[in-house]
Amino acid sequence: MNPVKIVLLGATGSIGTSACNCIRRFPELFEITGLSAHSSKEKLLGLAEEFQPDSVCIGEAASADALRKSLGTSVRVFTGEAGLEELVNETDFDILLNALVGAVGLRATVAALKRNKRVALANKESLVVGGDYITSLLQNGSGRLVPVDSEHSAILQCLGGENHSAVESIILTASGGPFRTRPLDRFEDIRPRDALNHPTWSMGKKITIDSATLVNKGFEVIEAHHLFAMPYDRLRVVIHPQSIVHSMVEFHDGAIIAQMGVPDMELPIQFALSYPQRLPLRTKRLNLAQLGELTFFEPDFSRFPCLRLCLDAGRSGGTMPAVLNAANEVAVAAFLDGRLGFNGIADVLRLALDNHSPVPVSGIEVVEEADRKTRELAGKFIAGMKK
Ligand code: NAD
Ligand code: MG
Repeated sequence: MNPVKIVLLGATGSIGTSACNCIRRFPELFEITGLSAHSSKEKLLGLAEEFQPDSVCIGEAASADALRKSLGTSVRVFTGEAGLEELVNETDFDILLNALVGAVGLRATVAALKRNKRVALANKESLVVGGDYITSLLQNGSGRLVPVDSEHSAILQCLGGENHSAVESIILTASGGPFRTRPLDRFEDIRPRDALNHPTWSMGKKITIDSATLVNKGFEVIEAHHLFAMPYDRLRVVIHPQSIVHSMVEFHDGAIIAQMGVPDMELPIQFALSYPQRLPLRTKRLNLAQLGELTFFEPDFSRFPCLRLCLDAGRSGGTMPAVLNAANEVAVAAFLDGRLGFNGIADVLRLALDNHSPVPVSGIEVVEEADRKTRELAGKFIAGMKK
């Protein structure tokens, strides 16, 4: 059998790097045919030399010539955001592993599904902003979405071959991030370095901040709503600081099935590539007796106002989650470079949501229009704010 051809977008990031480890272990099963990076030209070059893809995409056009020179004429070099979509549209592959960060990943997901390909989706923002449209593409075509996010991979594993009508609820676990027990009056002093210090997972900067505000969990509820056709009133969040139970499914006879393991993204990434098969993985094993106890708590919405805003935006539907995401991308970037305080992130989300009347997500353009207007509004708001 020929190896499965994989296009890996966001190859130089946290998920991209773990994905390369998974692919390296099974050269007879997997082959990389396309790679992308935003600005890390040298890292992309190193990966291209190792995996010998047919095409690469680099975010910064200025680096394209140097890449062409180093890689020779047998490798196609695409550039910029448009290049990501062109690579997906014009090259031959079986699975798109979308490990881009942010709404910039939507067009690649949509392009792959329109070509009826399988998408291993780490880029949760695709589903947050374009969930309704992606669902319609899945219903009308033969493309398939397999989640990489650990919670959704857990849910997929818990569902096994069960009947959808037997599912009563889906329970997503959240670590609670670094500020789960921080006194509320000390939230004002939170600096980026505090928020970047996640207790259980090592990830890219943006998702690490989203995990500290619990926007990440809010996004994951919206993601689960679309992936598993589950209404919002049957999606629950529980705080579980150890990050051992990756999520659970409750069935209509009261049985709850959980998927557990040490926190390591290589399992969900590998599973998304080999699904529905399982491949061996020699990572650290879970020793429950050594761990001693697993704890669970209700989320505290006064501590995490962003979680409530995300859930409300999800329920409002239409373009509301796209607005939520755009405001969050602007707010997180501003927090990371010191232009916005930690509590300001929730203020930016609230302002953006209060100023938007959602319309149905009939295609990419309507989402991108909402995204553009929100970035403008959020940017102005932050510029005029006293820190
Ligand atoms: P990261 O910041 O480490 O990597 C992002 C990748 O995307 C990099 O390769 C970067 O070059 C590329 N990129 C960034 N901006 C771009 C742009 N404008 N145009 C083109 N390429 C761009 O992020 P990550 O932690 O690997 O996360 C990737 C996605 O996976 C996110 O959607 C995140 O929410 C999701 N995710 C990550 C984890 C994790 O453990 N890291 C877990 C679950 C889900
Ligand atoms: Mg997750």
